[in-house]
Amino acid sequence: MKTEPSFRESVDIMFNRAVALMDLSPGLEQKIRVCNSTYTVRFGVRLRGKIETFTGYRSVHSEHMEPVKGGIRFAMGVNQDEVEALAALMTYKCALVQTPFGGSKGGLRIDPREWNVHEMELITRRFAYELIKRDLINPSQNVPAPDMGTGEREMAWITDQYRRMNTTDINAAACVTGKPINGGGIQGRVEATGRGVQYALREFFRYEEDKAKANMSGTLDGKKVIVQGLGNVGYHAAKFLSEEDGCKIVAVIERDGAVLNPDGLAIEFLKEHIALTGGVKGFSGGTYVENGAAVLEEECDILIPAAMEGVINLSNAKNIKAKMIIEAANGPVTAGADEILNKMGVVIIPDMYANAGGVTVSYFEWVKNLGHIRFGRISRRQEEARHQLLLDELERLSNDPAITWELSENFKRQYLRGAGELELVRSGLDDTMRESYQSMREVWHTNDKVHDLRIAAYLVSINRVAASYRSKGL
Ligand code: GLU
Repeated sequence: MKTEPSFRESVDIMFNRAVALMDLSPGLEQKIRVCNSTYTVRFGVRLRGKIETFTGYRSVHSEHMEPVKGGIRFAMGVNQDEVEALAALMTYKCALVQTPFGGSKGGLRIDPREWNVHEMELITRRFAYELIKRDLINPSQNVPAPDMGTGEREMAWITDQYRRMNTTDINAAACVTGKPINGGGIQGRVEATGRGVQYALREFFRYEEDKAKANMSGTLDGKKVIVQGLGNVGYHAAKFLSEEDGCKIVAVIERDGAVLNPDGLAIEFLKEHIALTGGVKGFSGGTYVENGAAVLEEECDILIPAAMEGVINLSNAKNIKAKMIIEAANGPVTAGADEILNKMGVVIIPDMYANAGGVTVSYFEWVKNLGHIRFGRISRRQEEARHQLLLDELERLSNDPAITWELSENFKRQYLRGAGELELVRSGLDDTMRESYQSMREVWHTNDKVHDLRIAAYLVSINRVAASYRSKGL
């Protein structure tokens, strides 16, 4: 029986499959593969009358572009192998969607549910202090963001900690992304990763030959979807796909089991139920089953793993019945499972593309912070004024008795409205997801050695990283 490699090894195996098809010098190949550095810190915080020691990491995979970018994860499973794997994925992700960053990732071994808000603040600030003093958090060097177990709240604490330690840095707000709106954040960042999953699927569904590879046709309307993990990413993906594209979320898998409903689950109600009770058990809008993992193997069109790495592995890959998998999480399919699923003809939309919505909008937030101005602030009313001018002219013409048409009120309202920040962010995200998909699919369809989208994604992104190293003279 084959044994499963570690997460980092798994990422390397997939990287190796791609570089085997490329013509890189062995030296450059190795330079791109390896993780540049991983800083480990153990620090103590006085809590509940005694000193508690925590272990945290910040790994920098590639500095071919700076700052380097990637989230900070708070979870008990955090370890060096994991942050290094995640940092490598950030390098490839940023290159694929053309956000001008190298790859990094951080983690703190902690169960955030064990500590109250005040304690979490002390711990987060202390961890941030350790990273800031080594420039592992810095607007021009290394810019973290939320990941599993962290969100706007932690990002606000980290920014404030950075400000306290760099009182004259005019770009302090850009030291981290995923901040709350009133703390320098950007509209649409919280929903961004889930929104990106939706835009990725919409783009995939625009191509008949791509759908055919997954034995599908038609639109997203009515497609059966299983979502694993209703955290920030899974929740937004499930919500948008069901409310806006007509998908049926036939099952949601959570920590305590799964709920199923062949007619589609009401995601808003389910989310409320989870917030209230801590799990999916007892939800009246579906049937509960305790063995959540088994539900990954249920029949469906699209499977969305949106929780942990390694959930689809050598032990369950051959039982997967989904026609396609879109990796909303980082590394949910192991290298071994990837091979099996590809042989079975399951189309996989790879993590480095599928969940890149988060870092894409992080990029917009970082640019906004450096520009010190909200997108649209200068142009919005001028845009509206120009639209008004056109409408006035059209109406003047329509007063001509020889012409009988009239503009509807609804058209006028929509046409007149200048784009605000949220609309601009969504437009930029949609454009990014479409363009990046097109760059992958071109390789997928034109290189006869490339049989899956993951290899195609690696080829596109490794080529870009290699070009960047070469331009530096390496
Ligand atoms: N943690 C997210 C990811 O894995 C977001 C990273 C970022 O925005 O920098 O892509």
